[in-house]
Amino acid sequence: MMKTKGLLVVISGFSGAGKGSLIRELRKRYDNYRLSVSATTRQPRTVDIPGETYFFLTRDEFEKMISGNGFLEYAQYNNNYYGTPRAYVEQQLQEGRDVLLEIEVQGAMKVREQFPDAMLIFIVPPSAEILEKRLTGRGTETEEQVRARLRLAVEESRQMPEYDYIVINDDLGKACEELHTLIDGQHRRYALNREFAEQLQEDLYRRFKEE
Ligand code: 5GP
Repeated sequence: MMKTKGLLVVISGFSGAGKGSLIRELRKRYDNYRLSVSATTRQPRTVDIPGETYFFLTRDEFEKMISGNGFLEYAQYNNNYYGTPRAYVEQQLQEGRDVLLEIEVQGAMKVREQFPDAMLIFIVPPSAEILEKRLTGRGTETEEQVRARLRLAVEESRQMPEYDYIVINDDLGKACEELHTLIDGQHRRYALNREFAEQLQEDLYRRFKEE
């Protein structure tokens, strides 16, 4: 079996597109995926588990980590810092795991600059109406908060052309398989398999080339 190195997979999308459930489902079905846990300065929510959903840092701690080059990327979003700790991602990639980063668009662009082989995937709902229904249906936020998220989606939608792939999250199982197929396909690119291909070519030459 040929050895391919791990891929960095950036997953972005509007709030309400179902990124979280999609990533959970993908990791349930396939065991090669690793999810990077981000650091943030925002307040934990009731659903948050420190060290699992995020590492919660003070601004001071976060800024120290920035100066120590501890982040692969970081961005300010909603008056808070969010960043991807570097060490875990680099280690997993080296071990051949595919690492998922669930980050917003500014961070995605910074990842692309540093890792030209990274895949950038944008998760979308099937339609604007369905996005509105999903956000309203959660019932956890006021109408004004839902409006704010929808307005943010308008802004974020401008960045979609920067991404490599759009995955429509209509049926969770289907979207999950689609996502896995895309990532698997990316592993087959020549650039990622050059070593193997060159070795094979050399072997063929040595064994079968006419004298
Ligand atoms: P939330 O506060 O709702 O958990 O996340 C807000 C936004 O920050 C989401 O779009 C999420 O994808 C993004 N985000 C989470 N972690 C990171 C990170 O490490 N880096 C960047 N750039 N964005 C992140």
